[in-house]
Amino acid sequence: MLKTKSPWKRFLVMNLRNRIAFNYTFATALLIALVFTVTYLIVENVVYRQFDETIKNEVSEVLSKAHINTNDFQGFESFHDLDNKESIDTEFIQLVSRTGEVVKKSSTLSWCALAFDPSHSGKDYFNNSFSESIVRQAQIPLLNKSGVIEGYLIVAVPLKNAIIVLQDLRNVFLFSFPCIIVTLFVLTIMIAGKSISPIKEVIATAERITQQNLHQRIGLPYHRDELYRLSATINDLLDRLQEAFHREKQFTSDASHELKTPLATVKGTLEVLIRKPREKEHYETKIQFCLMELNRMAKLIDQLLMLARYESSRIKPNIESVALVPHLEEVILKMMPFAIEKEISIKMDHNDPVSVPADTAFLELILVNILSNAIKYSRNASTITIAVERKAKTIVCSIADQGIGIPEENITTVFERFYRVDTSRNSSTGGFGLGLSIVKKLADLQNIKVSLKSEPNIGTTFFLIFPST
Ligand code: ADP
Repeated sequence: MLKTKSPWKRFLVMNLRNRIAFNYTFATALLIALVFTVTYLIVENVVYRQFDETIKNEVSEVLSKAHINTNDFQGFESFHDLDNKESIDTEFIQLVSRTGEVVKKSSTLSWCALAFDPSHSGKDYFNNSFSESIVRQAQIPLLNKSGVIEGYLIVAVPLKNAIIVLQDLRNVFLFSFPCIIVTLFVLTIMIAGKSISPIKEVIATAERITQQNLHQRIGLPYHRDELYRLSATINDLLDRLQEAFHREKQFTSDASHELKTPLATVKGTLEVLIRKPREKEHYETKIQFCLMELNRMAKLIDQLLMLARYESSRIKPNIESVALVPHLEEVILKMMPFAIEKEISIKMDHNDPVSVPADTAFLELILVNILSNAIKYSRNASTITIAVERKAKTIVCSIADQGIGIPEENITTVFERFYRVDTSRNSSTGGFGLGLSIVKKLADLQNIKVSLKSEPNIGTTFFLIFPST
């Protein structure tokens, strides 16, 4: 639940479009404020520098006209005429004593005087107010031979026009700043809204998709940008989900079918048996048959439970270094009675003793399943060859039979649950199509790769590729 109370915060938090617009506008506002401030300061500086230059020229003119050296001032008498004929009415010149009393001034000052500000030294140019307007002013100290200030030469130029220009510039900046920001915010909201509209479509489609219409897909945007990738990724995810749902459904219906068939057979057999009294041998045969069916059911339930346990990932493999060859020999010994029944010989090819990282119990289940398949689907009196070899940092164990083989189109599907290449050919072997899915699951848990190659009527070879220790 959203805890923020402020509507402004909610406005930002709730909506990606608003957040993009806000962040963009905020960053731009900072930039514009910086540009405006710098521009204003540069213009102000340029304007003042021009006035300062004028004052400087005027000071040197006045001093040279009066033949005065500021470090050897010998009295105010040297200043005869303070009026500059070329710039009449535009400059103010005034001489003040060391205490600030007016000694002499230009005719432009007529009835008023420039205010003396003792805080400014000779090199300073500063703004000063003069008769309700502002002037740019300089106060040049006049020193006698001993370095004592005898008075000041004050030169000032009116700033009125420049101040108006600067004020106008400032007003333009201050007025345009909020206008630019508001316009920018509105435009960004519109552009951001348009840019993220495909996201809304993605959300709407994703919301519409349920288990019932899992086939629906999100339309891909025109441009191959991040939104395109997002939509494509979600579509891929939906493909996988649909596939997984389909497999789950298939699994449930396969499992119930496999359980219902023997149950129905047992039920039917017993119902027929109870209708009238029969010979003892007849009872024995039918009960034997029922027991066989029940054993098959028990085996199926065992395999289902095993698969459920391994698939729930609750069981973690206990990986250790397993000596592969002795382990294989043990499994072969266990399977030997079944091989002997079909006069199958099991050959073992190995060069050197190798250890592989695996869980002993899991590895045994894998080998038992593959080897029992090899025996099940082999011709009588054929040979099963088991080989162990090192190949590019891996250890490969292969189990090859000379059996009926698997058609090429079924090679990838044999690891699926309840998958049997041909149900008719399995009826004699009694398999449920769960063995290889258990093998795959156990191999995945231990990082073992399982693959196979097969040729119908020639034979099948299973490969277990172990990571090197
Ligand atoms: P099943 O219990 O039916 O043997 P599996 O999952 O072990 O189930 O095998 C799936 C299917 O793969 C089998 O039904 C069989 O058709 C085929 N298969 C597995 N191993 C071999 C093999 N060595 N030779 C030929 N076919 C095989």
